[in-house]
Amino acid sequence: MALHTTDGESVDPFTDIFALPVSDEALPKYQMPEHRTSPHAVRALIRNELALDGNASQNLATFCTTWAEPEVHDLMDECLGKNMIDKDEYPQTAQIESRCVHILADLWNSPQGETTMGCSTTGSSEAAMLGGLALKWRWRQRRQAEGKPADKPNLVCGPVQVCWEKFARYFDVELRQVPLEKGATGLRPHQLREYVDENTIGVVAILGVTFTCDYEPVREITAELDLIQADTGLDIPVHVDAASGGFIAPFLDPGLVWDFRLPRVASINASGHKYGMAPLGVGWVIWRSAELLPQELIFKVNYLGGDMPTFALNFSRPGGEIVAQYYNLLRYGKQGYRAIYETAARTAQSLGQEVAAMGPFTLLYDGHGALPAVSWTLTDPAAAGFTLYDLTERLRMRGWQVPAYPLPPERQETVIQRVLIRHGISRDAIALLAKDIRTAVDHLTGGPTHAAAQPGFHH
Ligand SMILES: *Cc1c(COP(=O)(O)O)cnc(C)c1O
Repeated sequence: MALHTTDGESVDPFTDIFALPVSDEALPKYQMPEHRTSPHAVRALIRNELALDGNASQNLATFCTTWAEPEVHDLMDECLGKNMIDKDEYPQTAQIESRCVHILADLWNSPQGETTMGCSTTGSSEAAMLGGLALKWRWRQRRQAEGKPADKPNLVCGPVQVCWEKFARYFDVELRQVPLEKGATGLRPHQLREYVDENTIGVVAILGVTFTCDYEPVREITAELDLIQADTGLDIPVHVDAASGGFIAPFLDPGLVWDFRLPRVASINASGHKYGMAPLGVGWVIWRSAELLPQELIFKVNYLGGDMPTFALNFSRPGGEIVAQYYNLLRYGKQGYRAIYETAARTAQSLGQEVAAMGPFTLLYDGHGALPAVSWTLTDPAAAGFTLYDLTERLRMRGWQVPAYPLPPERQETVIQRVLIRHGISRDAIALLAKDIRTAVDHLTGGPTHAAAQPGFHH
């Protein structure tokens, strides 16, 4: 049989993958190959290339799911062909999406959890766009009803994730970002009064600030807006970006009032693929009650059969993530989510203690009270003898991804480091990381461990 042809059909099936013609040259990067190749060979070669990516279980920079039970893998596989937009062909997938919406509405204490509106999205970014659009439409309706101009909408927020900057730019809304005060981990309520006015479509409060991992005080933010309303008559709704906190606070801190228990909270988004533990590609946006979602934003589509309402930026999307989200909600229940995140929080807190004890660091967030995470900065950057960027690089040599980055512009001189603990990151892995941080600091400062780190040296 022919061995040296690029036409997969005539290759000897016993040929070793790495002796195939396709393995004898670099993979095509600019043009589609003329011929077929064996699936095993292509899979092996692509896998080899993917092995150069970082190891997801050592990526402590991401909030996103990197570990799932085998049952989730099975369900994802079975759902490969399910298009969630096609609610006529896949009515049960649509049912499951709707159940997730109502379960989350209930988890976040909607007064009308069983009837309120909401939908799945590709993530919190799309969810933020939809939440922002609803705010913009409602503000415009209000302004038009009052016979007032509605051409200069603004949105007020603290140090937000980039999705809100995108929303503002893509949908022509002025983003009024309240600067981070010194020592603050997010928006402080007393700052609001200066920024809101009659053109404010809403305030975004963040449950789990991307930079620091802390929660913004949603209850106090709404209380300040109550005072502002009493003084000025401005009735400004709040959207809570609970991308990460939406799946943490209900379990770790059920007494924290941040959700639809606050009448001013109009909508909430969360990333199912972050602490919701679903595979990548699903987020949620939920309105407090159905009338808060303007009807004009809902399209009716009939070309898939039936007459389907849709509110989304995308059309076709995979159904598997939604099914996996439902699986997680049923599989773990509140008890399971609580147990997983109590463990994650203890792991984060233990790392916080270790980092605090090392000497050069000051914790910005110690893992208590908000996300299972820790963030820190150098106490005295000038005297430390190294930067957090140096430390990031040293840790990277051991495979750890621990990002260093500056705070938002007004506090850019402060560089911080952040570690997120999520499902699948064990206490042991973090103990190993702590040891690697010590070793790296000693290396960078010429400290004790460095001198003692001879092969075979034991205490
Ligand atoms: C991650 C994150 C987002 C964006 O969410 P995606 O699901 O990645 O699109 C928005 N806001 C906050 C606070 C986040 O942490």
